[in-house]
Amino acid sequence: MYPETLRIEGTQLPYFRTPEFGDLMKESERWFLESLNAPEGASFIGLTSSGTGAMDAAVSNLLSEEDKVLVINGGSFGARFSHICDHYGIPHEDYMIPFLHAFDREEFEKYSGKEFTALLVNACDTSTGQLYDLDYLGDFCERNGMLFIVDAVSAYLADHIDMQSQHIDAVLTASQKALALSPGAALVCLGEKALERVGRGKRAYYFDFADYLENQKRGQPPFTSAVGTMLALHERLKTVNEKGIDAMNALHADRASYFRSALRELPLQMPDIPLSNSCTPVLFPERNATEVYEALSAKYGIYLTPSGGDWKDIQLRVGHLGNLDTEDYDDLIEKLKGELDQ
Ligand SMILES: *Cc1c(COP(=O)(O)O)cnc(C)c1O
Repeated sequence: MYPETLRIEGTQLPYFRTPEFGDLMKESERWFLESLNAPEGASFIGLTSSGTGAMDAAVSNLLSEEDKVLVINGGSFGARFSHICDHYGIPHEDYMIPFLHAFDREEFEKYSGKEFTALLVNACDTSTGQLYDLDYLGDFCERNGMLFIVDAVSAYLADHIDMQSQHIDAVLTASQKALALSPGAALVCLGEKALERVGRGKRAYYFDFADYLENQKRGQPPFTSAVGTMLALHERLKTVNEKGIDAMNALHADRASYFRSALRELPLQMPDIPLSNSCTPVLFPERNATEVYEALSAKYGIYLTPSGGDWKDIQLRVGHLGNLDTEDYDDLIEKLKGELDQ
């Protein structure tokens, strides 16, 4: 976390049903929408939930049994969108991408002209680090008249997201990734086409977007806000606004490329897929990844992100989100080297 976040999150919380808190949320809304280059008329929703709450809310508010949804299922977060559709009985087909395989545009084109009504994608499926081509997917949705819903939980601030040029209808993210805040707040931005669908499904109670949109007119959520996280969010979004989104993307791109070039000196590999700036998947051809994870955490308190299921002993992920700098990566490379030499 950044020092300013720690300072804000360490202070007493104010009562939030006040015009002051409402004004602060309205300002956060403006900065968030600007950072996404949201189109005219787009709206903001702040949820008290983790990122999955926003995925759930986007599906249950914007899609129904009458839709035919295409899901890009290339990792555990793509699978989550698929499960959420199953949960609500929303007809869907999954474009499956096997582990270590890149999205294949030619293969994907077979879904064109098949009367799909919406596309669900994780800009970066954080379980694999793969970054999907939102320019192409936005164009695909535009050509096919599909609603384009993007989970940018890990990609927000790290990778280029532009609602207007990428024809995105709904974007969602969460407080605990690049914003580097406490968990507990999820942010959603809805463009006009998404807004037209709000209120159709009526499946959600706590997550009913209509209720949030009405209340957000005065900067208030219908239920108790993650007040502390929202105050720290306001400060982070102010910084994003001051520095500009391109500079934020560049910051993450620089960290990722710094780490990736240092990694080339080690007997480790990176998958040959388009990678997000949010994290680097590292493959361990010679060592057991779980053992390296355990050694680094036990000896140095350095936590890389382990992978689940079948990839557990093969892949770790190195994060580029939050208050990290080149020295952190120098330190990590040195310790990784020591570990691999053993
Ligand atoms: C982290 C993440 C989420 C949200 O997970 P939660 O644990 O619910 O916050 C959703 N999608 C992606 C791509 C993520 O990286």
